[in-house]
Amino acid sequence: MDYTINHAGATTVSALLAEAGASADEVKAVWLSYPTATFVKADSFGKELEVAEGTATLRTYGESDCMCDALCNVVNELRMATECTCTFGHEGGYQLSVILNDACNKKGKPTDIALMRDLAPVMEKQAICGEGQAIGRAVSQALDLFGAEIEPHFAKRQCPTSGCAAFKTYHVLVSKCTGCGKCIKACDDDAILGKAKFVHVINQKKCTQCGACLEACPEGAIVRAGNKKPKTPPKPIPVKRK
Ligand code: SF4
Ligand code: SF4
Repeated sequence: MDYTINHAGATTVSALLAEAGASADEVKAVWLSYPTATFVKADSFGKELEVAEGTATLRTYGESDCMCDALCNVVNELRMATECTCTFGHEGGYQLSVILNDACNKKGKPTDIALMRDLAPVMEKQAICGEGQAIGRAVSQALDLFGAEIEPHFAKRQCPTSGCAAFKTYHVLVSKCTGCGKCIKACDDDAILGKAKFVHVINQKKCTQCGACLEACPEGAIVRAGNKKPKTPPKPIPVKRK
């Protein structure tokens, strides 16, 4: 969630959250926008930090938010905010954006972690614009603070929090499906198997995670799942619901 803050000078994230009227209870990390441009983990919310003058955004992340996705968004926002065309600010920012976008879309490569580790500090030092330097700093910082969440996107093509939309899967609950067929009509990818009065089944290989079936189901029988998947039959079975 984003909060607008107006604070300059020394403070703590705890104080900023209180000023913004936000609870720190379920917040695992925050991002303070440019020019402060820093991630802070919950265990450091009480530590003093220097906030740059001007209106800024305080972005909070909860347990179900993915910090790889969060970093990707921050890098993309910083890139959009600058017109700098220097090699490290522009080209480096582009490279990091592509790498992170791929990782959030199940296309991460193990070698890209080392690439980011090499490129980010160079950008921080060599980029001409402040935003380019901030991109380098944010990437190094996020890898240090949230490596356990970010690295599996590259090493195993997994999202530990399932916060990345591409890693979520859709399933039909046997206990709720009436076999009405409305989900099949809503699916443009032919990813649903079923017939009247049979529990429908989603073919995960064909599903593009568009969410149209979930919207179309009048019974609330379709759910979006993260790491914990509901048990579903491999093929349609007669409906169990009375
Ligand atoms: S999420 Fe989209 S692609 Fe997947 S089964 Fe539902 S409608 Fe089809
Ligand atoms: S999942 Fe929903 S829309 Fe699809 S057949 Fe079952 S009840 Fe109907």
